[in-house]
Amino acid sequence: LTERLGQVFRRLSGRGRLSERDVDEALREVRLALLEADVHYRVVKTFTERVRARATGAEVLEGLAPAHQVVRIVRDELTQLLGGRAEPLRVDPPWPAVFVMVGLQGSGKTTAAGKLAHLLRRQGRRVLLVACDLQRPAAVAQLEVLARQAGVDFFGVPGGMTPPDVAKAGVAHARRGGHEVVVVDTAGRQHVDEALMAEASHIVEAVQARQVLLVVDAMTGQDAVNVAQAFVARMRIDGIVLTKLDGDARGGAALSVREVTGAPILFAGTGERLDGLEPFHPDRMAGRILGMGDVLTLIERAEQAVEAERAREMVKRLREDAFGLDDFLEQLRQVRRMGPLDQVLAMIPGLGGRLPAGLKVDERELSRIEAIIQSMTPQERRQPSIIDGSRRRRIAAGSGTTVQDVNRLLKQYEEARRMLRHLARGQGPRAGWRRGS
Ligand code: GDP
Ligand code: MG
Repeated sequence: LTERLGQVFRRLSGRGRLSERDVDEALREVRLALLEADVHYRVVKTFTERVRARATGAEVLEGLAPAHQVVRIVRDELTQLLGGRAEPLRVDPPWPAVFVMVGLQGSGKTTAAGKLAHLLRRQGRRVLLVACDLQRPAAVAQLEVLARQAGVDFFGVPGGMTPPDVAKAGVAHARRGGHEVVVVDTAGRQHVDEALMAEASHIVEAVQARQVLLVVDAMTGQDAVNVAQAFVARMRIDGIVLTKLDGDARGGAALSVREVTGAPILFAGTGERLDGLEPFHPDRMAGRILGMGDVLTLIERAEQAVEAERAREMVKRLREDAFGLDDFLEQLRQVRRMGPLDQVLAMIPGLGGRLPAGLKVDERELSRIEAIIQSMTPQERRQPSIIDGSRRRRIAAGSGTTVQDVNRLLKQYEEARRMLRHLARGQGPRAGWRRGS
């Protein structure tokens, strides 16, 4: 942050720090919310301790009561704990990539297998569904129906083979048939038991599964911990499918399962139909687990107020022609942090909420840009137009980048500045615009 922006930020957030009492008070509420959401009490305990450590002494955001500030920290931590960002399922060659669904009976394995096949087919993959639940004849038929509905191929054996052999035969069939993805459905039991675990792990070995997906019923709440623990103790679990989130499950199972397995939650099951499978969004789940609708809305509003204030300050600086490279970097960071700067821009009267292309960078590019800007003198950052050829060479050397990288950054900055000014003025760029290079 530049000094000036730093002051703005301090003014906005400098309404004091959280005391131990604030934190205790808020955490009492949070603990209740978590337990109500069916988070396992052991997970609640470790989690609230972690939050206490982070929250005590933290700054209070303007517009928020201290207790709400704690909830904000809780929500952020919860989102992190749930995986931070939505994680996609990796479906790569070599083909066939074999996915095995494991879990208790009734957790939704067969349904999830069908949904996954449906999803992958819609992504253009050639999918084969393999039925390895041989405990009930109806299970094979159920998968066959799902395969037909999803428009994918099906492999099943009428009888006389063990589940691992069926799985192996299924994969061989996929090789011959040119299938890219094989989804193997397995049997479950009412409760975790040795025979179930042995069978599932034999299947996983027999087909050398690319990924083992543990299917967990969100409605089972605290029980999910025990189920997940039993499975990770016996086999490799690569990802979680959390089903029946369309019901009134509060989502505590998500936290428990994630905490116990460390595996990413890839999908949420949101209905009995084939299209009821969605990428899992940790932030939404955090909100659902906390179930503090009003408080969360309040927090979002306060955050928006702060962001809007910062954006307004940025616009003022643009008008004053004082938008330097530090501001540019701050903008990039802001965009990374909240995603849509468009929304912030939209909150400012007179601005169309458009985002200049130069402000969309990925994490790696951002750290390169940071390195380059940090290698500049304060004057260079304020007034990039003085950065000539020899300064560029020095900056490149100092930041471990190339002169081309520096050039690209300066061009990006110039574009962003022009676009932002354009937006800030609500009119075309001024004639005779001074180039920064
Ligand atoms: P399996 O024994 O693990 O194979 O479980 P099934 O796939 O047969 O599912 C058990 C029951 O749960 C069936 O009635 C499914 O329709 C239902 N089910 C599965 N996933 C979902 C879901 O995401 N939402 C809802 N509401 N029901 C689901
Ligand atoms: Mg089944």
